[in-house]
Amino acid sequence: MESCLTNKKIIIAVDGFSSCGKSTFARAIAARLGYIFIDSGAMYRAVTLYALRHGAIDGDTLDERRLVSMLGDIDIAFRFNPARGASDLYLNGKNVEREIRSIEVSRWVSRVSGIGSVRRQLVDMQQKMGRARGIVMDGRDIGTVVFPDAELKIFMTADPAVRAMRRYKELKEKGDETPLAEIEENIRSRDLADQTRAISPLRQAPDALVLDNSHMTVEEQMAWVEEKLHTLGCL
Ligand code: C5P
Repeated sequence: MESCLTNKKIIIAVDGFSSCGKSTFARAIAARLGYIFIDSGAMYRAVTLYALRHGAIDGDTLDERRLVSMLGDIDIAFRFNPARGASDLYLNGKNVEREIRSIEVSRWVSRVSGIGSVRRQLVDMQQKMGRARGIVMDGRDIGTVVFPDAELKIFMTADPAVRAMRRYKELKEKGDETPLAEIEENIRSRDLADQTRAISPLRQAPDALVLDNSHMTVEEQMAWVEEKLHTLGCL
């Protein structure tokens, strides 16, 4: 692994399965280092929300061509929300942080993220965001495709039952009463779709460090990563 010199900011890629707590972990690392945090999944969710709202997804059908023709109309931006201590996603100027987490968006997002033109547009945006380095990005292809030269790559995994329970609690806190069984099924099908899609499937980069956080607190995960950051000379 490359050394992180005192003045040199690095790129940290956090990849892994759905609902592993990647965003919580990546956000905490960014806060610890004073880096930018980007949740790339939120960007795929925003495109999915747009598709749902503008008729490219209708009933059980996704009209890929129609969605691709709409891509030029989709503007995605992140703006820091001090109340949350994190950035909210804005779709064409509107805060859609809540809407992009709905089960309806979760149901379609893996299909949408399998479309080549969607991936090209979002990967291009993500690479621009990382130009100045000093960024922690979480997703599925960050260490393999977006930033293959990231100095620190983490691949997260956790027991599917633990992941479903975490997502269930998170949705419930927001007033969403989606049953646990439906969440479990959604996680399993997204894992499968993400691992088997033709373009940029979810896979562990050969130089990624694996973190199974099934039975770890956020504090324990932070202690784990801080040790790696010390080794890299970033702390
Ligand atoms: O991270 P999150 O679960 O919110 O991501 C939603 C979906 O977006 C994933 O299930 C995956 O299909 C897609 N995604 C992706 N590549 C990324 C990030 C997310 O394909 N870098």
